[in-house]
Amino acid sequence: MYTFPEFHRVVYITSSLPKEQATLSHYQTDPSNPKQSVWFIVFGQKILLTSNGDLPSALPGAISEDKLEPMVLGELQGRSCHMVVLEQDTAFAQAEMVDLRSLAERLPAEQFAMAGKACQWETFLNNHRFCGRCGARMRQVQWELAMHCDHCKHRCYPRLSPCIIVAVRRDRQILLAQNKRHKSGVYSVVAGFIEPGETVEQAVHRELAEEVGIAVTGLTYRASQPWPFPHALMMAFTADYLAGDLVLEQKEISDAGWYAITEREVWPPLPDDYTVARQLIEQLIADIEQND
Ligand SMILES: [Zn+2]
Repeated sequence: MYTFPEFHRVVYITSSLPKEQATLSHYQTDPSNPKQSVWFIVFGQKILLTSNGDLPSALPGAISEDKLEPMVLGELQGRSCHMVVLEQDTAFAQAEMVDLRSLAERLPAEQFAMAGKACQWETFLNNHRFCGRCGARMRQVQWELAMHCDHCKHRCYPRLSPCIIVAVRRDRQILLAQNKRHKSGVYSVVAGFIEPGETVEQAVHRELAEEVGIAVTGLTYRASQPWPFPHALMMAFTADYLAGDLVLEQKEISDAGWYAITEREVWPPLPDDYTVARQLIEQLIADIEQND
C-alpha cells in the first residue's frame, strides 16, 4: 500500500522562476534581507503564525528540506510567497497553527487573501489525489496548478464555486436575513451559488425569489471577493425592491426583514468587516444617505 511522505512532495513553479533554479535553497531567506520571503505552512485550513503573530519569513527549522518541495504561491509587496502543505498536524516551537477565519481578523487584508489562496490550493491538492473519472492516482503538473491522471488523461484545476450576493434596498430600508448556516445572531444579505446554465443575473433573481420571495430591479454589480471557505468566488450586487411579500425558504432562512437605516442601533449583528457582505451593506447605506 502506498504511504504518503511526511510532507507532500508538491511543487509549483511560476513562469517567473526558471525551473532549474527552483530548489529549496533558492527560496531560503537571504540573511542580508530576512524579509524577502513569506512562508505559508498549511495544514487543514490552518496556517502557521509565529509567536509574534506574523507569517514566518523563513522555513521553520522543524521542516527538513529533504522531505518537501516548496510551492511558489505569489508575491506580496515585493516578497515572494512560498507554501508547504503539511501531511499531518504538526506542532512547531514558538508558533501556532491558526484557522483561516481567525486569520481574517489577525492579518492585513492582502496577507489574508494570500492565506486564502494557500488554503484553496491545499483543498484542491487534497481532494484530487485520485482521478474522479478512473480512480487512478493523480500527479501534480509541474508548469501549471493542475492535477493530471496519466491513466485516462483527465486533468483537474482548482475548483471555484461562483456565488452571487445581493443587498436589496426598499426606500430607506435594507433587506437583512438570518441564514441557518450563519453563526448565531448574524443577519446578512441574500447569497447563493450560481447553477449550471445560469447567468449571474439570473442567479440573483432566482436566489431572491427562492429564499425570500421577492422580485428586484436595478441590479448593479459592485464588487467581487474570493471566499476561501472552501472555494467560493462572491460576486456582489445591489438592487432595488420591486414586488413581493417576504416569504422565507424555511430550510435556509430562519428570519428576514426590512431594516430602516435610521434605526441601526437596534439592528441585529452584521457580518464581520472583512466580508463583502458587510461592505455591500455599508455601501447601500451610504447610497441611501447620499440620495437624501
Ligand atoms: Zn483517470
